[in-house]
Amino acid sequence: MDRFPEPSALLFTDLALDRKAEHRDDRPWLDALEQAPTSRFLVLDPEARILSLADGRAPRLLTPTERRRHLGDIPASLLGVDGEDRGYFLLRANAEQVRTSAGVLSAQTIGLRHAGARFSRFDAGLFAYASALAQWQARTRHCPCCGAPLSWISSGHRARCTQCDTLQFPRSDPAIIVIVEHEGACLLGRQPGWPQGLYSTLAGFVEPGEGLEDAVRREVDEETGVTVTHCRYLASQPWPFPASLMLGFSAQALARDIHLRDGELEHAAWFTPGDIVHGVERGSLQLPSRLSVSRYLLAHWMGRQAGIDLETITDT
Ligand SMILES: [Zn+2]
Repeated sequence: MDRFPEPSALLFTDLALDRKAEHRDDRPWLDALEQAPTSRFLVLDPEARILSLADGRAPRLLTPTERRRHLGDIPASLLGVDGEDRGYFLLRANAEQVRTSAGVLSAQTIGLRHAGARFSRFDAGLFAYASALAQWQARTRHCPCCGAPLSWISSGHRARCTQCDTLQFPRSDPAIIVIVEHEGACLLGRQPGWPQGLYSTLAGFVEPGEGLEDAVRREVDEETGVTVTHCRYLASQPWPFPASLMLGFSAQALARDIHLRDGELEHAAWFTPGDIVHGVERGSLQLPSRLSVSRYLLAHWMGRQAGIDLETITDT
């Protein structure tokens, strides 16, 4: 039964944008694209919120003329070019500049979680990409080798130390997320402080010196005491809050005994597809956001396990 979504359906992935990495050091090419009338500029504030239309349903992209008028002194980082040769750039503005621009342009600012649910797929993906780059730039000011200031090169995609020439690259922090199954049930957990009834698949950052499957086995063992085998990669999703890359897996448990070993979870339990359907229908179970890879893993499992389309029983 193939009633589960394709990985390409995951929000923020499969962005239809040519990043044009080969032109990031080509100043004449960049200048021409920055001035092309069709080019557009995404404006992000220091909290990585984006300037958006007043109704919050799309980003308020600046034309080259608007950029010159309102934010002309901010260097632009190339994001890429879409299928119609329209260029997209990131502008990182300070809070005052964003406030002023929002006033003049009758715009507002919106965070990525909200935008993910309201923007078009392309706009949400573009914002996620810009957000990841902007947050890396904001956090990367000094050389980790010698402490000297860095200077931006490659249209904001690299930073070079002004003293020792060491290069810094935008980082993504790999994190595994896994749906653990055992004889027709899956293992979900909740952390203290989560909304009532919310359960999710297990997740954690990959540690130095680990393969992804090692991280899956360790995280599941640390959080629940469950031993897993047969780790299979399913899908990934950038999660720029601020720099995670979620790597989704399935794994098979050897037994169902649960021991919350590291205290990260306040409860974990096994759920059959029927438990999930009834829990959601009764309102006692809340599933992770539609934006998340966790939701994708659950939908994938429900489709494969029971032929149930998760989206037909939920409205969140
Ligand atoms: Zn240095």
